[in-house]
Amino acid sequence: MKKAERRELGLIIETMGFGDWVWIDPKDIVVAQWVRLKCAFGCAEYGRNASCPPNTPSVKECRDFIGGYSSAVMLHFPKTVARPEDRHVWSREVNSRLLALEREVFLAGYYKAFLLAMDSSGLCSECAGERSKCKLPRASRPSPEAMAVDVFATARACGLPIEVLRDPSQEMNRYALLMIE
Ligand code: SF4
Repeated sequence: MKKAERRELGLIIETMGFGDWVWIDPKDIVVAQWVRLKCAFGCAEYGRNASCPPNTPSVKECRDFIGGYSSAVMLHFPKTVARPEDRHVWSREVNSRLLALEREVFLAGYYKAFLLAMDSSGLCSECAGERSKCKLPRASRPSPEAMAVDVFATARACGLPIEVLRDPSQEMNRYALLMIE
């Protein structure tokens, strides 16, 4: 991507109210099979969220998808909440803003723009649970984790903060990816 294009996109990102983000080479986005296993064994969203596994592509297809881009932006969202479940309202608001950003980037001519949202889709009070039954199919997007992205390794490779949390009172460092071309 040319410098002028990056400048133009950076302006769009900042104008849309996002101030904490970096450019990332898609080759540096780590995709790993273990992430999918963590979804299948240990996450309550598995099979219950229409934007989460097993409703997302295979790990190989996720890797191929990311390999089809030459540019991406990683957006950082630090947050502390009183109770873990309190993050859902915040996630919904952030993901709605990110979806609007994806649209602006698309309208700027980057027709492959695709968002990997900051959290699993929580746009509806009750998720349909199956991709084909999604109530807002045009608005829901998978998270990086749902696309088998090792967010820890990817963030650390970018010099961005992320740690295993031991207590809900600790600050979360959550991330979204916007694939651009
Ligand atoms: S838009 Fe609604 S039904 Fe679709 S994945 Fe999100 S929460 Fe589930």
